Amino acid sequence: MSFIEPKIRLGNKTMTQDQLLEQRKRNSKRYNASVRYGKDSKYTEFYQSSQWRSKRKRVLLRDKYLCQECLKQGIVNDKRLMVHHIVELKDDWKRRLDMDNLITVCTACHNRIDHKPRRRPEV
Ligand SMILES: [Zn+2]
Ligand SMILES: [Zn+2]
Repeated sequence: MSFIEPKIRLGNKTMTQDQLLEQRKRNSKRYNASVRYGKDSKYTEFYQSSQWRSKRKRVLLRDKYLCQECLKQGIVNDKRLMVHHIVELKDDWKRRLDMDNLITVCTACHNRIDHKPRRRPEV
């Protein structure tokens, strides 16, 4: 008599113990990924921290509540400001509170500069 692996019915699927275990593993991996990169990520947590909030304020004060990118073009813009990480959090976590890595920009400038694949600096 050969051994028959018991199957488990799951909805309309039937799985062996091993397959079920595999699926559980995959699901938990997906869960971890969403914790790390989803809306509960350490980045979200960071942006909600009081450390960040006070640093952000200092950057705004330093930059006189003006978009530094607009200013470069001679435009004084104090609307829709945000504090941007020049080196992004995911690229260098250690510089998340480094004043030299932070700059005040407006959302329009931010859309232009942020989250693009980095180009080699033009010389
Ligand atoms: Zn701007
Ligand atoms: Zn940014």
